[in-house]
Amino acid sequence: MNSKGIHHITAIAGNPQTNIDFYEGILELKLIKKTVNFDDPGTYHFYFGDEVGRPGTILTFFPWGKNANKGRRGRGQVISLSFSVPSGSLKYWEERFKKFKVVFDGPYDRFGENVISIEDPDGIEIELIENGAEKSDTAIRGFKSATLSVESLAKSQSVLTGVLGFNLIGNEGSRYRFESEGSIGNNIDLIVSPDSFPGIMGAGAIHHIAFRAADRVHQHTISKLLMQINLRVTEVIDRKYFKSVYFREPNGILFEIATDLPGFLVDEKKEDLGKILQLPEWFESKRNVIEKSLQQLKEPSPERVYLLE
Ligand code: ZN
Repeated sequence: MNSKGIHHITAIAGNPQTNIDFYEGILELKLIKKTVNFDDPGTYHFYFGDEVGRPGTILTFFPWGKNANKGRRGRGQVISLSFSVPSGSLKYWEERFKKFKVVFDGPYDRFGENVISIEDPDGIEIELIENGAEKSDTAIRGFKSATLSVESLAKSQSVLTGVLGFNLIGNEGSRYRFESEGSIGNNIDLIVSPDSFPGIMGAGAIHHIAFRAADRVHQHTISKLLMQINLRVTEVIDRKYFKSVYFREPNGILFEIATDLPGFLVDEKKEDLGKILQLPEWFESKRNVIEKSLQQLKEPSPERVYLLE
């Protein structure tokens, strides 16, 4: 009962408009769901992904707005996320980043693949990694991997290999790569850096990473294994598009186990995904108040991110 890999990654952003301008406008991801933070309905929750938001393609944000405190990436956090792009497509992305004034590093080699890295407007590190077959299109396919900064290799390894079914497949210096049996979002890199600064949660930091469970039974099996190694796991929480449990892995990073189903078509048709604000039924009666409290959004514009328009 192994996890197939990453289900979604959730980060904190500042301005919601800038967030949409960057991820839809520049990275050409699709906003597949516009909703609110179920634990704080005065804040948006954006989901970006492929055309239907398949597990392994979903990047989500809580844009905290003007009052967001600034985060800092560091030890005890997911410190970067990597998207898979078709082999040969990095030229396209370099040109695009130059056009819209996005500073990038690379390309450089990691485990035999070409990587370029950028920061989003809040400071989140994003990598594009060429892998798989050369294709005529250039679009991001979904996650390739995520990089976690940890104090102890063994502690996180106990969860990744002992519970989630990943295998350690190699290392480059202090970067250790784990792989699961899925076809997307199936790598986790641990960087062992016990002396580095601990991360601070806030805009520009990644809040948590979710791993895939096929269904509730699979999720329950994983929860039981986690409890057997004395980790505290939450109750099952209904996130409308999936069911979730949360725990802190032994190096302190917040992990979630999310079910593949029911998915993002549960309240909207494919062609309508992301168009209107979706609320869980327990907030519907407060829709007017909630909508008024949220910043109004314009159509995404790649030029607006670094004020080229
Ligand atoms: Zn989550």
